[in-house]
Amino acid sequence: MYNATYFSVDYTIMQKSDLKALVEQIYENLLERIDGEEEASKEQVVSYLRDAIDIVTNINDRDLDTIEHAKESFKNSYKEIVKESLNSYKNTNDKFGELTKLNKDTIEKCNEQHIDLNALSEKFNDIHTHMSDEVRKANLVITELHQKVKILEETSNLDPLTKVFNRRSLSSYLQEVCSNKSLPYDDLHVMMLDIDNFKSINDKYGHIAGDKILIFISNILRKTLRDGDKIFRYGGEEFTIVINRNSDDQCEQIANRLLHLISSNNLIYMGERISVTASIGVTKLKEHDTPDSLLSRADKALYVSKKSGKNMVSKDCN
Ligand code: GH3
Ligand code: MG
Ligand code: MG
Repeated sequence: MYNATYFSVDYTIMQKSDLKALVEQIYENLLERIDGEEEASKEQVVSYLRDAIDIVTNINDRDLDTIEHAKESFKNSYKEIVKESLNSYKNTNDKFGELTKLNKDTIEKCNEQHIDLNALSEKFNDIHTHMSDEVRKANLVITELHQKVKILEETSNLDPLTKVFNRRSLSSYLQEVCSNKSLPYDDLHVMMLDIDNFKSINDKYGHIAGDKILIFISNILRKTLRDGDKIFRYGGEEFTIVINRNSDDQCEQIANRLLHLISSNNLIYMGERISVTASIGVTKLKEHDTPDSLLSRADKALYVSKKSGKNMVSKDCN
């Protein structure tokens, strides 16, 4: 069930993070295509972008809202950027249309009896200058839009590689959780998940394969956990998962299910089947907890799993 196809964008369950990945893809491809292309390819780029915006604008808003924590920063920003980009290309395309017509008119003049060669060559120079201008302007717009995407990424709550929430987002979320006095303390669990022997995976298969493993595991977490649960990339190869409305035993079962899915599904990378395991420490929120005390308990439970042979769950829920 879980395999390398995770890396393709699944439009039927599009989330904001996927949308971001999609837009990034659009720009990367677009930048590659635009550089040094001729007029015919420009038109291809425009129609390509038109298809892309169709996908983006037809995304169901409810799907986009499934990551509610990131709502503010992601609600419309990417849609706007893509729209802006489409409009700028539409203008460029219209200009190319006009220039092509001008070009045709000029050539038709050649068929007339009397040919003014000077005027003709002036016209062609004109067309050439206009075309270069348009290409330069279009390139400029694309570069600017690309930078905007980068800035959005930097100021966002999402980890750019795995598209789960980042550590900054975890801090503010736990701060909120710990200062909310009305919370039913028994209901909130925190898991710390750390990939086992990740350094040797990097050493054996390379850093890019390591990155793919991080994405592979994030996708398993995302698809297995419920909507209200939250997944954060704590750092390097560590994830923090916050789970709501479960008993200690249920939470342990979920953790074991995650480990089973991780260990029983291999990632195929460059023809190699890479298997990986992870370890988990579980704790639950107590009265007077701070983000630090909560995370440090989960971390200690994780340490017990590592010391006891890895690929296992330990809990400290007393
Ligand atoms: P353990 O089972 O005890 O957790 O061992 P480990 O090898 O997983 O842990 P260790 O802390 O020794 O090494 C973690 C490695 O994770 C080292 C670092 O290069 C790698 N790493 C951290 N962030 C990334 C990343 O974004 N991409 C890749 N490919 N590797 C990363
Ligand atoms: Mg680690
Ligand atoms: Mg590790």
